[in-house]
Amino acid sequence: MKSLKALYRIGLGPSSSHTMGPRIAAEAFAASLPVVVAIRVTLYGSLAATGRGHLTDRAVSMPFAPLPVEIVWLPEQRLPYHPNGLRFEALDAAGQVVAERSVYSAGGGALLDEQGRPESWADVYPYAGMNEVLAACEAEGLLIWELVGRHESEAIGPYLQTIWATMQRAIETGLNAEGRLPGSLNVPRKAAAYHVRAQSLAGYFGQTATLFAYALAVSEENAAGGEVVTAPTCGASGVLPAVLLFLQRQSKLSKEKILHALATAGLIGNIVKRNASISGAEVGCQGEVGTACAMAAAAAAQLLGGSVRQIEYAAEMGLEHHLGLTCDPIGGYVQIPCIERNAIAAVRAVDCAAYALLSDGRHIVSFDEVVRTMWETGCDMKAIYRETAAGGLAKAHDLRKGGSRVSHPWVAEHSPDTVPPAPTFMGSAAAASPTWPAPECASRLPASGRGPCQGRS
Ligand code: SF4
Repeated sequence: MKSLKALYRIGLGPSSSHTMGPRIAAEAFAASLPVVVAIRVTLYGSLAATGRGHLTDRAVSMPFAPLPVEIVWLPEQRLPYHPNGLRFEALDAAGQVVAERSVYSAGGGALLDEQGRPESWADVYPYAGMNEVLAACEAEGLLIWELVGRHESEAIGPYLQTIWATMQRAIETGLNAEGRLPGSLNVPRKAAAYHVRAQSLAGYFGQTATLFAYALAVSEENAAGGEVVTAPTCGASGVLPAVLLFLQRQSKLSKEKILHALATAGLIGNIVKRNASISGAEVGCQGEVGTACAMAAAAAAQLLGGSVRQIEYAAEMGLEHHLGLTCDPIGGYVQIPCIERNAIAAVRAVDCAAYALLSDGRHIVSFDEVVRTMWETGCDMKAIYRETAAGGLAKAHDLRKGGSRVSHPWVAEHSPDTVPPAPTFMGSAAAASPTWPAPECASRLPASGRGPCQGRS
């Protein structure tokens, strides 16, 4: 597993996979260029399907300013290694391509190169999953955050301080912002109003309202293109900060305790990232908000005095009760259901911690098992439920607006009685098969900890 620095990244919303990752890729390509006169960026698969709502075109254009950038949208085509593929081409005055690069945005701001290889972060943790983490903790009587400190460099302390400061800033900014979010949905910001109303409520309702307000604040900032921390992604960035700040204020906890909880939550996210996926385009929202809930539940259990077994139980429940959650953002905007979903997951994370703390930490399904189940569930999920804005709530909304959903090629040919056609994989012989194994699943290396996906329909 990589350093927590590869998980927690600071950047502009609304999407780590659709804006943060593509922008980082565009900046790297721009820095490598000779003198050129124009840029062409081709977006494939999920990036093209929901890229307008996610502001992907703006993210990949900004690093090339003032050069003109042509965006080509190909939602029905995919590059071989991940649903979020993009290709950069630099053109000279004669319109000839003088430089090109393909890259994948794999979620959480992480990139894969042309051959589908991840960025060159060194492995700093020797553990394959949570069972090995628990064994290591129990062998030496360590807490999970202490184990993190043992494997990370000294720089992790200051780094987590920066992460926590950025999370708090996002909450503060979001609580003070009003008006509507960008995009055609005209979604009103709610965090400020919820926060004010929370002050007048007592007991459980007041606490829940406060937690809602914090999560809404970050998620609305994210939707507005503000600065957030991937925890583990931009779309799910509201859950962990909300739970941490809520418990800090509620229980008057020190900053050090919050940083320790951030470390433990990060290790939980790292395990999911290694053994399954945190990309909505790969496994649906269970990988984003489900993982965020697991991270926040673990953090909460630790902050409330839980043992390592209770922390593991809380994380397991946080993910287990999001299994099967689809990614179906209306209009491709990271707004509905995303913002509300963050608020609900924050409350659920605290509930999972409370439930685990009532137990002795023993339970039947392990965190490692639920991570594997999440991965297999994601592999079985149809493409329309994996960040294409072509199914689920997105489809229902489009139908209400007059049926414009049929403009999407997968949806146009889909009916409840038929298997939706496979997207075309660039350079893949599997392109025409209706029972295609999605290459990003089928090509899993055993070393990644994720088994191959048997196929999607
Ligand atoms: S539905 Fe979930 S996975 Fe999909 S864009 Fe929204 S937050 Fe991300």
